[in-house]
Amino acid sequence: MSVTKHLCIVLHDVAPATWPACRRLLDMLVDLGDPPVTLLVVPDFHGRGRIDTAPDFFRSVDALAARRAEIALHGYFHRDDAPSPRSPGAWLRRRILTAGEGEFSTLDRDAAACRIDDGQHMLTRVGWNIAGFVPPAWLGSRGTYEALCATTLRYTSTHTALITLPDQRRIAAPCLTASTRSAWRRSVSRIWLRTMSSLWAASPLLRIGLHPDDALHPEIMMCWRKLIGTLLHDRIALTKSQAVAHYECAAPARC
Ligand SMILES: [Zn+2]
Repeated sequence: MSVTKHLCIVLHDVAPATWPACRRLLDMLVDLGDPPVTLLVVPDFHGRGRIDTAPDFFRSVDALAARRAEIALHGYFHRDDAPSPRSPGAWLRRRILTAGEGEFSTLDRDAAACRIDDGQHMLTRVGWNIAGFVPPAWLGSRGTYEALCATTLRYTSTHTALITLPDQRRIAAPCLTASTRSAWRRSVSRIWLRTMSSLWAASPLLRIGLHPDDALHPEIMMCWRKLIGTLLHDRIALTKSQAVAHYECAAPARC
C-alpha cells in the first residue's frame, strides 16, 4: 500500500523590499498548478521598510493569504545585530554559513520574547493571524525556544524538522534550499538539490525553502521549476500549519 507523501513549499524573507523577487517565485508556482504556500514575513527586513507602511505589498500578500497561502513570522529585522561572535565556531556559524542573518541566534529569553511579540502584534494589527515563527537562518537560541513556548504560536522549525509548540514534538521534514551568493555556490546547489531530493525521496514530509535571491538567477529558477514540478506529481502540497495538524499526533514527544 502506498503512503501519501506531502510537500511544504515555503517562501522566505517576504517583505516590501523583496516583494518583486518574491512575485517571480510565486508566478512560477502558479505555472506549476498554484499549490498552497507558506510565506515567511519579516516585519522590517534589514530596517528597509515596515510591512505596515507598504499598502501595495499588504494588498498583494493579503489577497494571496485569502486564497492559498499561510503567513508565518520570520524574525523581526532578519539581521544578526548582537555583539561579535567570540569563538571560531560561533564566527563560522554566524558570519560565514549564515552571512550575519541569524537575528535570533544569541538572544536571551527576554530579548527574543520582545521581538517575537512586536512582530506578532504588527502582523495581527494588519489583520494576519499567525500560527508559526521561523528564526532567520533557522538559528534560534535557547532563549528563543523558551520565549516561543510562552506564546500562543503552534510551531517553529529547524532545517530538518517542524517543531510543535509548546510541547516541542519533532516532525521530520528535511528542507531543500539553494545557496546563491556566488557562482560556485549556485553550481553546487543545482547538484545538491538533485542529489538530496533523491536521497530524501522516501521522507513522508519534505520542504522546499525558496528565497528571493533565487529569482535573480535563471539557472536556479530552472532547477526549482523542474524539481518542484516533479515533486508535485507524487506529493500533496500543504501549508506548514496543515502539515503540523496532519503529523503532530504521530510525532515523538519533546525533541
Ligand atoms: Zn530568512
